[in-house]
Amino acid sequence: MPEGDTVFHTAANLRNALVGKTLTRCDIRVPRYATVDLIGNTVDEVISRGKHLFIRVGAASIHSHLKMDGSWRVGAKGTPQRQAHKIRIILETADIQALGIDLGVLEILDRDNDMDAVAHLGPDLLGDDWDPERAAANLTQDPDRPIAQALLDQRNLAGVGNVYANELCFLFGRLPISPVSSLTDPLRTVKQAQKMLWANRTRTNRTTTGNSRRGQELWVYGRAGEPCRRCGTPISRDEDTERVTYWCPSCQR
Ligand SMILES: [Zn+2]
Repeated sequence: MPEGDTVFHTAANLRNALVGKTLTRCDIRVPRYATVDLIGNTVDEVISRGKHLFIRVGAASIHSHLKMDGSWRVGAKGTPQRQAHKIRIILETADIQALGIDLGVLEILDRDNDMDAVAHLGPDLLGDDWDPERAAANLTQDPDRPIAQALLDQRNLAGVGNVYANELCFLFGRLPISPVSSLTDPLRTVKQAQKMLWANRTRTNRTTTGNSRRGQELWVYGRAGEPCRRCGTPISRDEDTERVTYWCPSCQR
């Protein structure tokens, strides 16, 4: 699942590829927007807020969210299109093609009001306005709420996905289902979250352990049955209807 760092990275790619260029093709495969035509307009800005992306073109803003499986692929024009049936939008300039694939949200907003779509978000971990005190206060406002759930709630702080939620619980010695009130220092937790996302914002091989070698990148996520890197106990895994969680039964309480 894409996390804030993936979205930040995607925004940087789109920015490098599109900003300052004029659209020569704009093909939106969402019935509601099928008639929107942005050809001839210049791409001014690409912005990420939490896990939301905005491509500002003329008076419009193309708002997308990757949700579970979405991605943006940038390449030279004429690159063969795989997964053609999953393409939701095609943007082209004289030399570049950007494909929005399987996007969870794709809508065309009025540029002047596009930030309304993210007004509900808590402090953005990778934003200029990152505010750890407010994020920590949001995180703990409902003391009984499970830590992983509170970390994933983008209204508390924006950018944490399931990988980071699980990794943070390990680092702070708490189970994903433990209440947020059991965190001894919530401010430290949100600062650590920010540090992790920031360190990974330009990487493609995400690491929370500081080791980017294959198979060494993460503490618990995706490691069910493998030995805990601290104590050797096999990592546990559980899956409810919404999310999968991983934890060390010895290190986490
Ligand atoms: Zn352990």
